[in-house]
Amino acid sequence: MNFGYREVCLDHDTGKRHPESPDRLRAIRRGLADCHDVEYVAPDDADPALIKAVHDPDYVDEVRDFCESGGGNWDADTVACEETWPAILASAGLAEWAAERALAGDDGRATPFALGRPPGHHAVADDAMGFCFVNNVSVAAQAALESDADRVAVLDWDVHHGNGTQDIWYDDGDVLFASIHEEGLYPGTGEVEETGEGDGDMRTINVPYPPGADTTDYLAAIDDVIGPSVRAFDPELVLVSAGFDAHRHDPISRMEVSSEGYGLLADRVRSIADDCDAGLAFVLEGGYNLDTLTDSLTTVHEVFDRYTPSTPDDDEVSEGAREVLDELLDQGFGEE
Ligand SMILES: [Zn+2]
Repeated sequence: MNFGYREVCLDHDTGKRHPESPDRLRAIRRGLADCHDVEYVAPDDADPALIKAVHDPDYVDEVRDFCESGGGNWDADTVACEETWPAILASAGLAEWAAERALAGDDGRATPFALGRPPGHHAVADDAMGFCFVNNVSVAAQAALESDADRVAVLDWDVHHGNGTQDIWYDDGDVLFASIHEEGLYPGTGEVEETGEGDGDMRTINVPYPPGADTTDYLAAIDDVIGPSVRAFDPELVLVSAGFDAHRHDPISRMEVSSEGYGLLADRVRSIADDCDAGLAFVLEGGYNLDTLTDSLTTVHEVFDRYTPSTPDDDEVSEGAREVLDELLDQGFGEE
């Protein structure tokens, strides 16, 4: 894969013992050093005007001023320092680059993956939260809509609900947002009944799985509900909000996805994008066990280097997951 990466993203200092630390990117880089066909690209910063097209402009200025005056705690767990602002612009720029390259036709071994931080999917239109200031994947979607694309699908497999991305596009018919997340975990949103409104009606798909959902359950969400809905939507670009914190060894969730499972998820998403003749790009979100974050991400990379991940032994969808999928099918999702 082609990885968008900027050193400045390491300078976003969240303090000691914060799970969202620069060590995450360092660990990923070390893991990728052992892989074949890894290319790094250092794209430009995002233009603040593009960021302001998805966020309240006053809020964006407020974040810049907050960082430039030294930062601190925006809320209990969302922390900034002076260097956070340049990291924010770089991180959003990486996502923008990924969207542009995917739309330009970069695929296969050249599939783009934006390795930025701070992450983005919790940032709502006018507020930072959950370690996120600017919604990077939404900046990517906006960049795509401002160039060639009429329709963009965002698939968020981070273990937390991508409430920010949902918030930004909730009444917009041009972006389909689908999230698989652990029910009851931060930030507590993402119910099956949240399906969009106005032009965005049925353009939001939430799969709130009970704790313990595993790779088989995640694959079923894609095969039974998200995949058919995305194919019917027929986007020109598919963006993945790629968090790796649903891993069975991640410290902040109770899900049971394996490293191989992330490879299988990536493979499924690639098939969907291929079926739609759409570009495909990945944007890093969470993932807090450095070893499993690295393992999972390198497995995704290997899938684009012709590796076939092994399927789980247990191919039975759990009862709790099946109930959620049935509710979504009842809502009318999952039809091609
Ligand atoms: Zn997360």
